[in-house]
Amino acid sequence: ERTKLRRLKTAAASTLDGVRVQLNANIELPRDAATAREVDADGVGLFRTEFLFMGRDELPDEDEQFEAYRSVLKAFSGKSVTIRTLDIGADKALRGTLIRRDANPALGLRAIRFCLSEPKMFHAQLRALLRASHYGQLRILVPMLATAGEIEQMLAALERAKAELRAEKIRFDENIPVGGMVEVPAAALQASLFARRLQFLSIGTNDLIQYTLAIDRSDEAVSHLYDPWHPAVLQLVYRVIQTGIRTGTPVAVCGEMAGDITNTRLLLGMGLREFSMHAAQILEVKQEVLRADTVELSARVARLMKLEEPERLREAILRL
Ligand code: PEP
Ligand code: MG
Repeated sequence: ERTKLRRLKTAAASTLDGVRVQLNANIELPRDAATAREVDADGVGLFRTEFLFMGRDELPDEDEQFEAYRSVLKAFSGKSVTIRTLDIGADKALRGTLIRRDANPALGLRAIRFCLSEPKMFHAQLRALLRASHYGQLRILVPMLATAGEIEQMLAALERAKAELRAEKIRFDENIPVGGMVEVPAAALQASLFARRLQFLSIGTNDLIQYTLAIDRSDEAVSHLYDPWHPAVLQLVYRVIQTGIRTGTPVAVCGEMAGDITNTRLLLGMGLREFSMHAAQILEVKQEVLRADTVELSARVARLMKLEEPERLREAILRL
């Protein structure tokens, strides 16, 4: 068993028909990078930086953030590291003065909305990210974008941080890729606009399911209704992946769906080539990838996606 697992670890994640699939790790703190290295993750697909900010009274300043980001880039030298800007609010609360008590926190001032309302804090994070970008292959990922206006404001904030660093003669990656999370139905429905404005997309299925089905992801009373295979959810995911293929924009899935092996064949058939998940799930998913044939799966998934009856759809997914 041990040697089998080790062989699996070092094998590249390629399908039977020779398609290379990226299997990246989701991390919450810099120390998680070591665990991700142990399973030979292709890169970091999602670094949830809010965990650097949570559970403490003093927020991390620019230098502390810079060191944290650089340490992950060092651990993944030569590999792609996607760092998400602060996704605070709703299920991820900050301590202290910045705390707000909203009636509907998931629909309130969270993620990019929160960052745009706290420009100083956002500026410090963008500077830290840009400075770190000099030390590896860093991509910036922005959570919960819903409108073109938010993309514009976010890119303008990034330009200000870049201009400042240039004036200070501090080096950074001038061509740093900037991507957006697709986790609000509005973003999925406007995927082609998002693809024009951004260099890559990453589908956050946890929130996409929450917002598509109006199911609070942290409310147990409705958790039985939380369904990744709801036809509406799958149509949105399929649409975004296909838009990525059509426009040549890299698309990843970094929500829980990506790490659940009951979805691997479905997502491959939709055209997904980049998965990001908890390190503990990577080898299992890789095993599924090694057994898959994308030509066959894409034809079957194209047919299956025409089904509207939830039960028939579910049966077809189980038969894939
Ligand atoms: C998601 O929403 O699917 C996601 C990856 O982000 P988070 O779980 O941190 O909200
Ligand atoms: Mg999310």
